[in-house]
Amino acid sequence: EPGAHVPVLVIGTGYGGSVAALRLAQAGVDVHMVEMGMAWDTPGSDGKIFANTTSPDYRSYWLRTRTKQPLSNFLGFPIDKDVPRYTGILDAEEMGGIIVYQGRGVGGGSLVNGGMAVTPKRENFGAVLPSVDADEMYSVYYPRANAGLGVATVDPTWFETADCYQYARVGRKHAQRSGFPFVFVPDVYDWDYMEQEAAGTVPKSALAGEILYGNNYGKKSLQKTYLAQARATGRVTISPLHKVTSVAPATGGGYTVVIEQLDTVGSATATKTVTADRVFFAAGSVGTSKLLVKLKATGALPGLNSEVGKGWGDNGNVMCGRANHLWDPTGAVQSSIPCSGIDNWAAGGAFAEVAPLPTGIETFASFYLSITKNPNRAQFSWNAATGKVDLNWQTAWKQPSIDMAKTIFDKINAKEGTIYRTDLFGVYKIWGDHLTYHPLGGAVLNKATDNYGRLHGHPGLYVIDGALIPGNTSVNPFVTITALAERNIEAIIAADL
Ligand code: FAD
Repeated sequence: EPGAHVPVLVIGTGYGGSVAALRLAQAGVDVHMVEMGMAWDTPGSDGKIFANTTSPDYRSYWLRTRTKQPLSNFLGFPIDKDVPRYTGILDAEEMGGIIVYQGRGVGGGSLVNGGMAVTPKRENFGAVLPSVDADEMYSVYYPRANAGLGVATVDPTWFETADCYQYARVGRKHAQRSGFPFVFVPDVYDWDYMEQEAAGTVPKSALAGEILYGNNYGKKSLQKTYLAQARATGRVTISPLHKVTSVAPATGGGYTVVIEQLDTVGSATATKTVTADRVFFAAGSVGTSKLLVKLKATGALPGLNSEVGKGWGDNGNVMCGRANHLWDPTGAVQSSIPCSGIDNWAAGGAFAEVAPLPTGIETFASFYLSITKNPNRAQFSWNAATGKVDLNWQTAWKQPSIDMAKTIFDKINAKEGTIYRTDLFGVYKIWGDHLTYHPLGGAVLNKATDNYGRLHGHPGLYVIDGALIPGNTSVNPFVTITALAERNIEAIIAADL
């Protein structure tokens, strides 16, 4: 309620925000969460909460009048289409040189992502979070995060015969014939449910191609894990369709938080002001960075240091497809949940997910999302002329990612006598180098904050999301975001509350 006073306000309901809310509530603290996206708890006229990937509709995009599909073309033809402007689930945020895809709604990125839940290899952790004790992370916080998220791996016996993973078995064959290690990738999807989908005994979601715009059945999003537990404490409330626009020190202590209530076309219908003793920034790498950079530049939070806005990376994301021979079909029905990858990190700086291309028809294509050791880092800055925050990422900065991904796919193509697909990202364009699914950094741990996420200069303000991680996790990021949040909130509860 406007004018209210809360002990803790959390901005955003993704991984970092959900961990903070649950652990604070369990420690006896009342928490209010503010989320700019929708609640995603009510079915549409088709009886489903979420739209299917093959037929995007008003629910699919955040305030766009035309879809912005990551794979923009098929057989060379553009596949984007007009949709009504709505506070939909996937934000394709255009930040100059890169499109940053993000989830919008209660559950954040967990609503739209593939659920791939990967713990980095121990030997790579020092480069991911140099100031964090790896022993503690691997003995306490990664196991805690994996348990809280419900992470599991496909049954390897079922995998061998499941039609929906033919694409992954083809991916394995090609990887192994070129000498690359092939690994199963854990996921938060309910694997028993997927086996029942394949058997035809339950409504389908992974096997109906659902991904990107939400998953109606089998995926354990945060709504089913951390947020369900948080709500069950009775101490956590959530305001969807509310967007934080300002945080500033309040006279008499704590912080004044300004919040806009949004309608479903994105217009502000009310502005509310509340006071909070403590505020956790969990708006995601881009959301948190944009807020902090603006608040520092406009004088609302003058004590923030000059590290705010720095150290942003794209986790080296780059996509590509390969055209297989006619004797290597990848399957008409493909599980939208990837379960495997090709690990060439040590030798070539690339970890490639064997990804689905759930078109519903046989495409003879293998499709990959590579995570690479791209060294480039960008910075957010306040643009006083436009009143917006800019990011200085350059399209050409993806070249190292392409070169690293090629250490895998040039070799496979040479071995198999195959070529890259050129029809998925435009007309004769091989590389999906215009986007990221994995924004990281902008308020880096031990730089913009102390070693536990306390923002320098303003006691009682914390960062607890992907903004803390300096640009790369060597694998998909949300397990690391969750584990780091578990570590930090434990220390904060013990020392600050
Ligand atoms: P988020 O999960 O982004 O949550 C931030 C929340 O804050 C959002 O709900 C947002 O709407 C809200 N918010 C932002 N600004 C404000 C504001 N001013 N006021 C109120 N609320 C605000 N990662 C993996 O590990 N495995 C995968 O398989 C995977 N697949 C992906 C597929 C796609 C299509 C996408 C987009 C991402 C994928 N990711 C994956 C990445 C993963 O989802 C993100 O790394 C993760 O969600 C980031 O967590 P977070 O807590 O930092 O923030």
